[in-house]
Amino acid sequence: MNWDNREDVLVFVEQKEGGAVKVGLEALGPAQVLAGLTGGKVIGLVMGEDNAAAVDKVSVLCDEVISVEDENFKDGNNDALTYGLEKIVEKVNPAAILAGNTPLGRELTARLGKRLGLGSAQDVIDLKTEGDQILWTVPVYGGTVLNDIELKTLPLMATVRSGAFSKPEEKQKAEIVTETVEVPEEEIRSKVVDSVKEISEAVNLEEAKVIVTGGRGMGSKENYHLVEELADLLGGVVGATRPAIEDEWVSRDHQVGQSGKIVSPALYIACGVSGATQHVTGMTNSGYIVAINKDEDAPIFDVADVGIVGDVMKVIPVMIEEIKKRKEE
Ligand SMILES: Cc1cc2nc3c(=O)[nH]c(=O)nc-3n(C[C@H](O)[C@H](O)[C@H](O)COP(=O)(O)OP(=O)(O)OC[C@H]3O[C@@H](n4cnc5c(N)ncnc54)[C@H](O)[C@@H]3O)c2cc1C
Repeated sequence: MNWDNREDVLVFVEQKEGGAVKVGLEALGPAQVLAGLTGGKVIGLVMGEDNAAAVDKVSVLCDEVISVEDENFKDGNNDALTYGLEKIVEKVNPAAILAGNTPLGRELTARLGKRLGLGSAQDVIDLKTEGDQILWTVPVYGGTVLNDIELKTLPLMATVRSGAFSKPEEKQKAEIVTETVEVPEEEIRSKVVDSVKEISEAVNLEEAKVIVTGGRGMGSKENYHLVEELADLLGGVVGATRPAIEDEWVSRDHQVGQSGKIVSPALYIACGVSGATQHVTGMTNSGYIVAINKDEDAPIFDVADVGIVGDVMKVIPVMIEEIKKRKEE
């Protein structure tokens, strides 16, 4: 592929409440693959009011960090962030620009695409390199169709779905380059004047370390409480298959899979889940998978590290009791 003298891969790592957002760190994974092709560096770009915590996280996952600090870049000031990103892109002349597929990531890449005349792939779940061809897999129609997209403009630009890629292995701290970007007043067309934080029980499956998922095999909403109790005891979050949601045992925010969330916890416990492809594609990146199913031929056992053949209504209470006992010791 002709990279037009571009080498480095720039990753915009978004911040939220003073920390790096997980999907921004995950975007450094595919960036490494691209940098392997271009022969360049992976550069993490952090823009915000106070970048210290985020820079710390990013610096062990890439080759260089560019930190741009200014009160203009605080959360929500998207005009300034777009301008800042454009200026850094001019300076770095990257071969590719990646960001997390968050509302901000999508907005910045869309606006940058318009300014620079670039195509982009949004909500990417896979990156394939075939010879000279780079293909970005993007789900459409609620995940029923997967499109492979080839980008025709440089720098390549994409947003990646949370949980679809793993962040790179930690390495020695990278060089941190501090840049200043003065944002002209006329660039700021809208401004956050007040922020009201809603207190809600948001389901954060993408960032969870432990997920306990209940499938149709749980049998009823009442039985589903066992899944919740086990997740609670392990400090985890409740996941669900589509039938459990359709039966209204739990809200749609909990769905794991092709048309739900793609997750990568350290521990994933699947209870009464058959292991349909549409579910498994959302959880195979988990560190350690435990499956409980009464059918020893259930496909979920093909992806599980530990399989327990048994009735969830008998196995989960034993697990709960045992964990409680250990916690008391
Ligand atoms: C376009 C499309 C997108 C989809 N997206 C998603 C998605 O994002 N996420 C998703 O999950 N699904 C999705 N689905 C649905 C998917 O195909 C499966 O139907 C679904 O994952 C199955 O859910 P399940 O494992 O809970 O139920 P089932 O397939 O019915 O499996 C239930 C399992 O529980 C076991 N069981 C029953 N009773 C017990 C018991 N007492 N103890 C232990 N085990 C027991 C059974 O042996 C069985 O293996 C999608 C489907 C389509 C067509």
